[in-house]
Order: sequence, then structure tokens, then C-alpha cells
Amino acid sequence: MIFICDVMLGKLARYLRILGFDARYIRQGDDPRSFPAPSPKILFLTKRKTGTVRPHTIVVQGNDPEEQLLGIKDFIEPYIDPAALMTRCLDCNTVLIDVPKDEIEPFVPEYVYHHHDRFTTCPSCKKVYWEGSHADEMHAWMERVKAKKHEKVPF
Ligand SMILES: [Zn+2]
Repeated sequence: MIFICDVMLGKLARYLRILGFDARYIRQGDDPRSFPAPSPKILFLTKRKTGTVRPHTIVVQGNDPEEQLLGIKDFIEPYIDPAALMTRCLDCNTVLIDVPKDEIEPFVPEYVYHHHDRFTTCPSCKKVYWEGSHADEMHAWMERVKAKKHEKVPF
């Protein structure tokens, strides 16, 4: 499943990447035609409510990215693959690659190096990730989602 996130949904794109989705983000000035056309496997997410909603387009409610994610939960939940969690760069959407621990030492804080064993890096922007660097963020979110399931969340 690929998500194309409209210009106002940059934070939502990062959340989707944490979950392992291919989440492309249309930045201000990008040509939307350079992105793949919406289809059953390529959903377009937007905040724009004007005009008719085109096929394979989801209008996202709210301003808070967590609230936005909850709003599209029904669309994404069936496609969440636990093995894909935290396999993409949050900044640029590239699939991360594993790096042996002994090669990563110069690139991470000393504390992190000594307290983690698994590291991945983005082949495109070179950002380094380790277990916990965004896992904590995601687990906290998952807990909040579960908690909210039992309340009546208006969306
Ligand atoms: Zn990257």
C-alpha cells in the first residue's frame, strides 16, 4: 500500500513511515503529476474538502497527526505488517538497511552505541536509526490508539 500525502500532511507521512508504509509527501512546489496516480493500492490523502472527492482519495480530518492517523485507522489497519515497522527513513521514506555495530560507532552518540545492538541507516540521507529511536514513539502511539478504541472518538 502506497500513500501519497498532500502538502499539509507532512507529519502524518512520518507516522505512516514509522508503521512501515511507503508514504510519499507532496511538498510545496512539487508537481503532483510526478507522483503515481491514485488507485486501489495507491491512496491519496488530503485535507482539501472542496470539490468532489476523487476516487481513491481520503479526506483527512483534524490538525494533530495522531488524530489524523486515528481518522484513517480503518484504511491502514488491515495493511499494517509488524515486520515492516520501522523499516523506512522518517525523513525521506527510503527503505533502511542494517549496519553492523562495529561500523556505526563514529556516527552515533557513545551512550547509544553502548546500549543498542541493532542499527539501521538510510542509504539516501545517511540518517542512522537504532531500536528505540522511533520505536518508543510508535509504541506510545499504539497504546494511545488502543486506549482510544474504547472511547468514542469523534472523527
Ligand atoms: Zn533518509
